[in-house]
Amino acid sequence: MTSDAAPGRPLDIAGLELAELEARLVELGAPKYHARQIFAWIHRRGVTDFAAMSDLPKALRSRLAEAWTVSTPALVRKDVSTDGTTKYLFQLGDGTRIESVYIPDTPAQTFCISSQVGCAMACAFCLTGKMGLTRHLSAAEIAGQVRVLAHDQQLAGPTTAFNIVVMGMGEPLHNYDATMAALRIVGSEAGLAVPARRITLSTVGLVPGIEKLGREPFMPNLAISLHASHEEQRNALVPVNRKYDLDALIEACKRFPVKRRSRITFEYVLLKGVNDTPEDARRLVKLLDGIKGKINLLPLNAAPGIPFERPDDGRVDAFAKILADKGLTVSVRKSRGRDIRAACGQLIVDEGPRTPARKSAAQALAEQL
Ligand code: SAH
Repeated sequence: MTSDAAPGRPLDIAGLELAELEARLVELGAPKYHARQIFAWIHRRGVTDFAAMSDLPKALRSRLAEAWTVSTPALVRKDVSTDGTTKYLFQLGDGTRIESVYIPDTPAQTFCISSQVGCAMACAFCLTGKMGLTRHLSAAEIAGQVRVLAHDQQLAGPTTAFNIVVMGMGEPLHNYDATMAALRIVGSEAGLAVPARRITLSTVGLVPGIEKLGREPFMPNLAISLHASHEEQRNALVPVNRKYDLDALIEACKRFPVKRRSRITFEYVLLKGVNDTPEDARRLVKLLDGIKGKINLLPLNAAPGIPFERPDDGRVDAFAKILADKGLTVSVRKSRGRDIRAACGQLIVDEGPRTPARKSAAQALAEQL
């Protein structure tokens, strides 16, 4: 949490939940009920200038303008794909950059948001993984992406008109507290009021995080990036499997308190000749036996530097058919925004001179010697 103001520096309230905002307001000697108004101005109406918060007493407005601030990710660039998918490039307070994606009409409107600058998980087929981790995002920066997209797309209305997927850059359960605080902020009925059932959090499979998530009062839907049907295969594709193996992950999924009428989504990237055989499909069916789940197949979005190929459509259909014939619910994810590099696994920020360059392992080693 970045709520503590340094002496003389204004307090950033963008990442505060309503109860925290109330407490801060009381500290200033103002009545608590104004917090709800301020929260609504910022999140529901997208207004961050205290002077413009016209239902607050004038004196309070000038007081807040001195003591507080509302940080907002700065929009650097917006790319619109031929299919309407829009990629937002944001610059944060320290100069680092992240991306968010707006995906229209799937049939719902969907915002795909980032949880970290880069990612530490290093999945073998993911471009973000190649960046390594620069840092976690704060709750303000995560909720800020939703706020900017909702207002830019004019979807912040009295009834929520969009879904959120935490599937952008980063591993959300590696940045657990900030991610959950951000979801509560966007979920608050005083603000954008996005219901938990409209939010899906996708994880590489950090088992302790999954267990914690299962106890959250505001609990999003769960998606698991599975990608493999046996330990050895998953070790090769998803390195974190060496720590939390497939067996432990499947057990955690079996214990996860899936809500009524909901299911766990299992994402499976299809890599030509690696994990796309009929045998893989049949093993996958067995693995998921007894879990309230559905499968989302993601034919690889190929990119330079990614040492895998995308299987052809016939292969993808054959794989899907084996699963469907065994009674599993299967969908094949359509790649959206590939022409602007906004598709799954393609988010990487390779511009911006102020982005701290991550040291390569070789460089770091050389410095130690
Ligand atoms: N760290 C989280 C969320 C980010 S990735 C997670 O692992 O779930 C969102 C999804 O895109 C994941 O399922 C990820 O494995 C998948 N993905 C990554 N690279 C991809 C690529 N090149 N092609 C298709 N899907 C990819």
